Amino acid sequence: MKTDAVELAIVGGGAAGLFAAAVARDRGVGCVLVERKARVGSKMLMTANGRCNFTKDIPPERMLADLGEPVASFARPALEACPPAAIAAALRDCGLRVRRMEDGRMFPASGKAADVVHVFGDRLREGEVPLLTNAPVRGLRRGDGGGWCVQLQDFSIRAANVLVATGGMSFPKTGSVGDGQAFARQLGLDVEPCRAGLVGVEADGTALRGLAGRRCETGATAAVETEGRERIRCAGEVEFESWGVSGAAVYDCTRWVARHRPREWDLRLDLPGGTLRLRHPRPRPLKEAIVTVGGVALGAVDPRTMEARGLPGLYFAGEVLDVDGPTGGYNLTLAFATAFIAVDAIAAGRR
Ligand SMILES: Cc1cc2nc3c(=O)[nH]c(=O)nc-3n(C[C@H](O)[C@H](O)[C@H](O)COP(=O)(O)OP(=O)(O)OC[C@H]3O[C@@H](n4cnc5c(N)ncnc54)[C@H](O)[C@@H]3O)c2cc1C
Repeated sequence: MKTDAVELAIVGGGAAGLFAAAVARDRGVGCVLVERKARVGSKMLMTANGRCNFTKDIPPERMLADLGEPVASFARPALEACPPAAIAAALRDCGLRVRRMEDGRMFPASGKAADVVHVFGDRLREGEVPLLTNAPVRGLRRGDGGGWCVQLQDFSIRAANVLVATGGMSFPKTGSVGDGQAFARQLGLDVEPCRAGLVGVEADGTALRGLAGRRCETGATAAVETEGRERIRCAGEVEFESWGVSGAAVYDCTRWVARHRPREWDLRLDLPGGTLRLRHPRPRPLKEAIVTVGGVALGAVDPRTMEARGLPGLYFAGEVLDVDGPTGGYNLTLAFATAFIAVDAIAAGRR
């Protein structure tokens, strides 16, 4: 490896990439952060309606139980190394004032997601971490003398290690358009088809007629039924839209559907005013989903390090992987924890 290669190139300045850069800076791992958009953290700004529910302050064991399989087994080493309490501590250490809700969900005390993005920005500026924006990475290839070549439009960056943190495929305007999944495929890694998790549903029939605009904030549950059997029941908000129904209870049901892919299913809504049954509802498109189910296959990556199997020096973190969680701070937690364990492994590899 020639000496002018950077130790770590991080591709993607979202939740996982920013956290990775902050950890790298703390560990003295020389890194550069490359972001396709003009600004970092665009999706984080949208989270929890601009309030950013960045983790849930519960023990890792409970979080793993809530994640369910196959995500739980994969995420266990990351969540044990970087549990919710460590994420909150890291953000406090970056200068963020945080607020814990009764149920454990954690937010910036200001109620502004922008503050989370700003504290990362401050940390990177103080640490003089180079940040390239308006810089979509076009491809990754192995370097001639070892390491990796990160290809941009007009030049390449040589790096001993690359962390791909390019996100899922929802809300493509935020920059997460599926590039990391394409890089993985080109390099021969398995990628699970991407589909909408945590998304609203449309339904035919009259069940929803006249309900648009109504909302149940408490006391509502949604359940997925297949062949007359209840598969999962989720509590939380239910909101009626012009096109169907949304809200946390519905979102958590659609995540189950995206993972288990039943041929046919019904959605049962138990609301304070009565029960509604939606026959064969259709999840809204991936571009509207809070999280992407699918991505770089869990078997393609070592869960203890996030390093791609058979491709030394290539790491993945965040939603580009086939990891997803329910609403309530789980998805940012997964992004932060997988980023942490990847950088931790890179730092440990130098010793
Ligand atoms: C509306 C909404 C609300 C949400 N609310 C919450 C919440 O409250 N709590 C929670 O835990 N989760 C929430 N999520 C989910 C959470 O935001 C994501 O899971 C998380 O942002 C994933 O982090 P990531 O770093 O993997 O990807 P992202 O945050 O999407 O970041 C990926 C970054 O990579 C960049 N990139 C992509 N391709 C390239 C390339 N080729 N070259 C360079 N850069 C590239 C993108 O521009 C982007 O900046 C929400 C999501 C949405 C859409």
